[in-house]
Amino acid sequence: MSKDRMIEIRRQNCNPMTMKVTYYKKPVFIHQGYMQWLWDVDGRRYLDLFAGVATVSVGHCHPKVTAAAEQQLKKLWHTTSIYVYPTLHEYCEKLASHFPDPLKVIYLTNSGSESNDLAILMARLHTGNNDIITLRGSYHGGSPQTIGLTSNAAYKYPVASGFDSTNVGHCMANEQYIAQLKETFATSVPNRIAAFFGEPIQGVGGAVQYPKNYLKDAYKLVRERGGICVADEVQTGFGRTGSHFWGFQGHDVIPDMVTMAKGIGNGFPMGAVVTTPEIAASFAKGLHFNTFGGNPLACAVASSVLDTIREDDTQQNSLRVGTYLMTELAKLRDKYEIIGDVRGKGLQIGVEMVRDKASRDPLPPEAMAEIFEDVKDMGVLIGKGAIYGQTFRIKPPMCITKEDVDFFMAVFDKSVR
Ligand code: PMP
Repeated sequence: MSKDRMIEIRRQNCNPMTMKVTYYKKPVFIHQGYMQWLWDVDGRRYLDLFAGVATVSVGHCHPKVTAAAEQQLKKLWHTTSIYVYPTLHEYCEKLASHFPDPLKVIYLTNSGSESNDLAILMARLHTGNNDIITLRGSYHGGSPQTIGLTSNAAYKYPVASGFDSTNVGHCMANEQYIAQLKETFATSVPNRIAAFFGEPIQGVGGAVQYPKNYLKDAYKLVRERGGICVADEVQTGFGRTGSHFWGFQGHDVIPDMVTMAKGIGNGFPMGAVVTTPEIAASFAKGLHFNTFGGNPLACAVASSVLDTIREDDTQQNSLRVGTYLMTELAKLRDKYEIIGDVRGKGLQIGVEMVRDKASRDPLPPEAMAEIFEDVKDMGVLIGKGAIYGQTFRIKPPMCITKEDVDFFMAVFDKSVR
């Protein structure tokens, strides 16, 4: 039996998968990573354009972040936040300095789902309302509550059915989106809205962007009805969109709450919620505790990630290389009938594949899988997503170069052709 097959069987035996392993025809057995590169157990190198789902922000095993982690490992791993230790408040101050007023109060968590769960709790306590509105195509987490916020049917379980998660449109004109939102208010959540959740660019949904002014208009409607506005920056934060540090800044809005995870720790499990002192005051009436949130090791890693983004000019690189990648992909879109759309910002990019440009029907899953496996066999890992699984998702470690883009473009061109 081959080494690959043995690893596969061992994984299946001890860790039955609720999530399909990507590249199921011939799985990749990852062994090691450095910056934008991954190596499999046989020493084969891959250009990683998916970053563990937009998570490895500054690079796999980035030397500066690794050094910070090593230093903290020898000092202190854990105490819980019932004690005062410098790494916690120092990190919170540093993270808060990246937000505009009045977003200055930070809560540290361990994942995106936990951040969004906490946001739901705070929104309900602050407003006294219960209902939540989310957008079609959104993904906000895998916990019992956040599954209810996630509109992708594949993630729905009966446990989430009591939760009001409402779909409002997908890739339409602003007026249509807003009309649907008003309809939702009228029919589903009259005067009971606690929060409106939106990703500044939908990630799992396939780099879906809203029309200009959509979030601005939506926020106004939500606030008029007593709800608060939450930006889920789990994928779009930390400079990934290139032009701004946070995705919401590209929409000219200031949310009442921002949730984050993934890129915050460059792969180290961590998350955060930032909100206003006013909302925090409502929350402070009760107790809230988690054992690991803001542990010294996580804070040291995340602090080093923020320093590295500044020192390596990571956000600028995301803008520069992302713009180049989008330009090159647009050339392929014009060349091939099955590339229907290229969209996104910075290094949060979606390539929507279609049967033909006129119908815009999704490219069938078998054809998607064929290109996906082919690109991997030529040494590049990308992601797949959107409602019908028809969009390739490109969200690499933000240290990739133009030369990496050229390599990928040659591979992708060959595969699509
Ligand atoms: N929000 C968004 C936008 C996400 O993409 C994800 C994860 N894909 C989550 C929340 C949930 O994060 P986690 O998997 O860390 O719980």
